[in-house]
Amino acid sequence: MPRKGIALVISAPSGAGKTTLVQRLLREFPQFGYSISCTTRQPRQGEVDGKDYVFLSREEFEQRRAQGYFAEWAEVHGNLYGTPLAPVKDSLQRGQDVLFDIDVQGAAQLKLSLAEAVFIFILPPSMTELERRLRSRALDDEATIERRMANARQEMLESRWYDALVINDDLDTAYDALRSVFVAASLAPFRSPDLPEALLDS
Ligand code: 5GP
Repeated sequence: MPRKGIALVISAPSGAGKTTLVQRLLREFPQFGYSISCTTRQPRQGEVDGKDYVFLSREEFEQRRAQGYFAEWAEVHGNLYGTPLAPVKDSLQRGQDVLFDIDVQGAAQLKLSLAEAVFIFILPPSMTELERRLRSRALDDEATIERRMANARQEMLESRWYDALVINDDLDTAYDALRSVFVAASLAPFRSPDLPEALLDS
C-alpha cells in the first residue's frame, strides 16, 4: 500500500560530510527523488547542469523568484540558491520521497511550506576536524575557508529546531543514524492512514 512521500531535509556545514552521506542514502533508497536546486554559483568541475544544480544567472534567478517559483531561497557564501516548489509537491503527492540538501535558512523556510518534512542536521565531530576536512579537500581558497568556518559556527547554533542531529565522526555510524531517522519517519501512521483498515480483511 503506498504511503505519503517523505520530504527529507538534510543540512550541514560545508565539510561535515553531507554529500557522502546523501549519496549513500540515495544508493540504498533509490526511490528518492532529489530536489534539484537552482543556483547562481559557477559549476564546479564535474558538476552537470540540470543534474547537480540548475545553474542560472543572477537575473534569471531573480526573475523566477519574483514569479514565486521557489519554495525557499537563500544567499549562501555570496550566491543565490533556491528550491523549485511545484516538482516537489507533485512528487510527494505521488508518494515519492524527496531529498533536500539545503542550508539552515532555507530549511527554516521549507518548514513553513512543508510542515511534515523531516529535518536532519549533520554535525562535524569538532571544529578542528571540520577545518581539517575543508583544507584537505583543497576546493577553496583561504578566504572561502574562513567564511565557511564562520558560517558553520552560525549554522550549528541554529540547528536546535531540527528533528535529528547526526554527528559525522565515523562515517558508518553517522550513516546508520541517518537511515534510522528516515526509516522511523516512513513508519509514522499519518503517512499510511488507511493501512490498519486495509489489513482487517486480510
Ligand atoms: P555548494 O555551493 O557547496 O553546493 O552549497 C553551498 C550551500 O548551499 C550548502 O550548504 C547547501 O546546502 C546550500 N544549498 C544548496 N541548494 C540550496 C537550496 O536550494 N536552497 C538553500 N537554501 N540552500 C541550498
